[in-house]
Amino acid sequence: MARCVVIGGGVAGLSAAIHARLRGYDVTLLEQGDALGGKAAPVHRDGFTLDPGPSIIILTHIYQEVFCRAGRNPDDYLQFQRLDPFTRVLMDGLDGPLDLPADEEACIQALGRVAPQDEPGLRTLMATLASAAPYVDDTVFAHPIDKPYQLLHPKLARFALHFNPRLTYRQLVDEQIKSPLLRAFFYGFPSYSGQTYDSKAAGALLIPFYMLRHGVWYPKGGIHAIPAAFTRLAQELGVEIKLQAKVTGLATQGRRLTEVHIEGSTALKADAVICAMDRYTFGPWLHRPEPQTPSYSYYTLHWGLKGERPEVEHHTLLIPNGFEEGFEELYQQRRPPSRPVIYLNNPGRVDPQSAPPGHTNLFAVLTVPAMHDHLDWGHESAILRQITRQELDRFGLGFEDSDIIFERQQDPRYFQSAHGSWRGSLYGPDEKERLWGLFSLGPRDPQFRNLTYAGGTAQPGAGLPMVTLSGKFAADALPAP
Ligand SMILES: Cc1cc2nc3c(=O)[nH]c(=O)nc-3n(C[C@H](O)[C@H](O)[C@H](O)COP(=O)(O)OP(=O)(O)OC[C@H]3O[C@@H](n4cnc5c(N)ncnc54)[C@H](O)[C@@H]3O)c2cc1C
Repeated sequence: MARCVVIGGGVAGLSAAIHARLRGYDVTLLEQGDALGGKAAPVHRDGFTLDPGPSIIILTHIYQEVFCRAGRNPDDYLQFQRLDPFTRVLMDGLDGPLDLPADEEACIQALGRVAPQDEPGLRTLMATLASAAPYVDDTVFAHPIDKPYQLLHPKLARFALHFNPRLTYRQLVDEQIKSPLLRAFFYGFPSYSGQTYDSKAAGALLIPFYMLRHGVWYPKGGIHAIPAAFTRLAQELGVEIKLQAKVTGLATQGRRLTEVHIEGSTALKADAVICAMDRYTFGPWLHRPEPQTPSYSYYTLHWGLKGERPEVEHHTLLIPNGFEEGFEELYQQRRPPSRPVIYLNNPGRVDPQSAPPGHTNLFAVLTVPAMHDHLDWGHESAILRQITRQELDRFGLGFEDSDIIFERQQDPRYFQSAHGSWRGSLYGPDEKERLWGLFSLGPRDPQFRNLTYAGGTAQPGAGLPMVTLSGKFAADALPAP
């Protein structure tokens, strides 16, 4: 049988392996680390189970469809619980915490009570997005877009027609939303696809739309239940998984890849290859030029703490005065924000297994630029650590050093060394260096017919649901086995 080698055992690689197997390939999955899941793999420490990457899930049907395609009942593998409230907001100037209920209407009313001027604009935005979203389901989420004529697809055009094409993401938001509270909530979303709020990034508005309309979810057992469920399915389907198998190069013949080289091991013959590691770390093996500017990454701090902290919800947002300046630093100056919006995750609110009884597993996430030449990440990380602790204190969520059992930090340097992310970026290069300045590159390699790409640097983009889809796109784009 024809063999497909999948390089990288994150969620994209697992999805690609499953879909390539369903297409009839004999599949070998190579992962350099000693566990699967990539950024969604768990870290076990001092009796705590940490999810050091994603903390919330949207679009649960995308994972469920993977199991359905394999003829399985998704509920036998993976179950989700809806977060309610889906977010707690603490903001300078707000009279206490604001909990946003899962129910869309209740959420809009809760926001309307603190920002009455925004309620009509928010309803208009939700109605526009409800009308536009199905066109994305039928295009960007259905198949790759890598040929210029596809831009003229009537459904893509109909999506675009919902938004004034001259306006940037920020202008689209500001047109409808006036309150600092909701602007702070909305401004962060373009970074989730490596874009800025000055981009023509209307598509990024779909993320808050899905959160409000379809809910924010958490897998039972933690985020790592997703790669665990995909691993189980892959193994049942007969995918061969090799851990501690670091790929170091490739052999080619004409327009085909023929072998994958593994550190300390014999080369593996391949009829097809799916690159599910960062495409720009992989590129030099094919003598591809390096892009110039990376996009965005994260700075995170994870603590194992003594004591319980019910005042921090599963997903809590800290919004400081001056957050606008923080977004300008992030998006316009490509600097870590000095007044960041901080996402806190306290998984113990819904998952008692995440920390020993009487303890808290607390995770802080800040969006930051990746490894730009003008940034010294040793210096930046030290400052961000200080800012994060100060902000927790200021919002009444601080703790003593003596409460800390451990502290674990990640910054762009970590994502580069641990996961092979090019310059620590989660989304590859800056949008100017993308397909038509708009999309991540499609799954097909321009030169090698039996090579395709999955993951956060391929279409349809980053985030767990998107990389799950990217695995399907990459397997579908391979020649028939
Ligand atoms: C702090 C943080 C918060 C996030 N929050 C969310 C969220 O709330 N919701 C959401 O949906 N998404 C979130 N994301 C994004 C999400 O985690 C990623 O988009 C997704 O996990 C990327 O999956 P991937 O398989 O493309 O890449 P990765 O998970 O990076 O997997 C790539 C794999 O390739 C392996 N590899 C690399 N080089 C080699 C080599 N040479 N040989 C063999 N193997 C190799 C790596 O070890 C790794 O396992 C977050 C990410 C982070 C870091």
